Amino acid sequence: MAEVAVNLAAVRQTIADAAVRSGRSPNAVRFVLVTKTVAPERVLEAIRAGANDLGENKVQEGRSKAQALCGEAVHWTMIGHLQSNKVKDALRFAEEVQSLDRLSLATALEKRLQYLGRGLDVLVQVNTSGEASKYGLRPEDVPAFLRELRAFDALRPKGFMTLATFTPDEVEVRRCFRLLRHIRDRAKAEAPQGGSLVDLSMGMSGDYAWAIEEGASIVRVGQAVFGPRPVPDSHYWPGAAGTA
Ligand SMILES: *Cc1c(COP(=O)(O)O)cnc(C)c1O
Repeated sequence: MAEVAVNLAAVRQTIADAAVRSGRSPNAVRFVLVTKTVAPERVLEAIRAGANDLGENKVQEGRSKAQALCGEAVHWTMIGHLQSNKVKDALRFAEEVQSLDRLSLATALEKRLQYLGRGLDVLVQVNTSGEASKYGLRPEDVPAFLRELRAFDALRPKGFMTLATFTPDEVEVRRCFRLLRHIRDRAKAEAPQGGSLVDLSMGMSGDYAWAIEEGASIVRVGQAVFGPRPVPDSHYWPGAAGTA
């Protein structure tokens, strides 16, 4: 088997094992394969090995990759910071946005979706680490944001997304995941659209097993499948530590 297929199988196994450890079925956790910086030919290897749920951080890259792979039956999710003036291009390839973090973005998405005559699954991104470099709502602002979201007919909020603090400290990383879970549980009980706020998108290559143990229903994993990225994390999260 090729390297990508081997790595994919290993990640799937790790996900299944962690799901079972958290008292869930082995396929209870959705695996979004993050393809940023990976050339379409290697993404195609992953698709051939069964990956069909793909995530991109940047609009331009996502759009051109989706075009290069347009014959494939895959689902693209936007997981990175989305500028309002890029909404039009994002909606050309993304069927879902996990990085909804402000009202102005909701407004821009709604306007374009109304024009297109379609809806969009969204996750509300929360900054659980408290780091200034991370995007996302402050935890205390989530309830009011959810109330405001009711006015947006085309947006279907399905839950929450976060990035944990970039640190090898397991306690701190799990604290972020647990915080998102508390936010979700509270929203489920109190928010107007509470019944549909089920998803927790948390966990990347370095921490997805912990995330699943803390309740993740979606993990977003790239490097564990494709190998280390050539660009530093600061390219995606300004101010983040410079390691790949
Ligand atoms: C890149 C990225 C991931 C995946 O990170 P890996 O280290 O490649 O697993 C997850 N979420 C977001 C928002 C990303 O930009």
